[in-house]
Amino acid sequence: MKIAVINSGSSSLKFKLFEMPSGRVIINKLVEHIGEPNSSVKNHFEAIESLHVNFADIDAVGHRVVHGGEKFRNSVLIDDEVIEAIKDLIPLAPLHNPANLEGIKVIRHKAPDTVQIAVFDTAFHATLPKEAFVYALPYEMYEKNQIRRYGFHGTSHAYLLQEAAALLNKKVQETNIITLHLGNGASACAIKNGKSCDTSMGFTPLEGLVMGTRCGDIDPAIALFMQNELGLSADEVDNTLNKKSGLLGLCGENDVRNIERRSDERAKLALDIMVRRIQKYIGAYMIVLEEVDAVVFSGGIGENSSYVREKVMNNKILKNIKSLVIKTNEELQIINECLWVLKNRKITQA
Ligand code: ADP
Repeated sequence: MKIAVINSGSSSLKFKLFEMPSGRVIINKLVEHIGEPNSSVKNHFEAIESLHVNFADIDAVGHRVVHGGEKFRNSVLIDDEVIEAIKDLIPLAPLHNPANLEGIKVIRHKAPDTVQIAVFDTAFHATLPKEAFVYALPYEMYEKNQIRRYGFHGTSHAYLLQEAAALLNKKVQETNIITLHLGNGASACAIKNGKSCDTSMGFTPLEGLVMGTRCGDIDPAIALFMQNELGLSADEVDNTLNKKSGLLGLCGENDVRNIERRSDERAKLALDIMVRRIQKYIGAYMIVLEEVDAVVFSGGIGENSSYVREKVMNNKILKNIKSLVIKTNEELQIINECLWVLKNRKITQA
């Protein structure tokens, strides 16, 4: 059986083809600079053409889709209705969902009979209780305008849960952990009895931890001050908070390897601010969970930086909690989701 995993972004497309059940990688390609000036790849159709893959030969194609809104609580088989629903969610993920859809549509066009499955970044957090996902804003902004916490990185947190439960020798549904996905984007998740019950990213991936270039939690009035007093346009504020802040904004670069090697004050401060934010979230989630089996470190920083891990856990309270380092594998999680959808499909068809 052949299963492909596609992560179709606005300017890049990652494609991996796996032979299952062996897990052998048959093709692994990355197409970059899609639609950029002077690029030879004008659009997603050309990007997918350039892979030279016969999609009719593939049993299932799993797509990473960033936003599933409130509608998608699980991975689903893609049909016309699902495509419309992903389209309806574009206002919530204006950069990501259109690019994800492009990938889906091109493959539908090239191989209409090939099964496609959408795996949503938000779906793992569908179990958040209302007190965790409703913001203290006018309530109709949740009801009418869909403003709420959605959470992201769900595929990674779900994978980490499975792996952590196995390492802890516990049933998934009895596992209580705090997962930290610390990559360029970063998020924390409180998992109670195998379910996401709080997470640090919110309405967008901007909220929460200090990230490579995103500020994470700030006083929201700062955004207005930037507009009203500093004269930045809404787009400039967006760009500042998402692309010029975080570690980059604090010390001029966002590669933690380099920052760790520096000895200047600003580099040290950037890491201290990042670590303190992580600790604050762990503290908050310990209260939410009441029992914590382990804190799980993952993502490029969590997996590789013993400096960051030790600084985070170097605390009287945290010292008594087990910490695990698990290499995340979102692609494997997407494959497992595809297998789950295919199995359920067979059951409903039988
Ligand atoms: P992305 O979110 O883009 O997938 P990754 O999960 O690959 O990002 O994480 C990127 C981050 O991991 C960068 O900040 C990088 O510096 C950091 N990183 C990778 N290797 C190491 C290392 N050996 N020590 C410290 N940080 C590392």
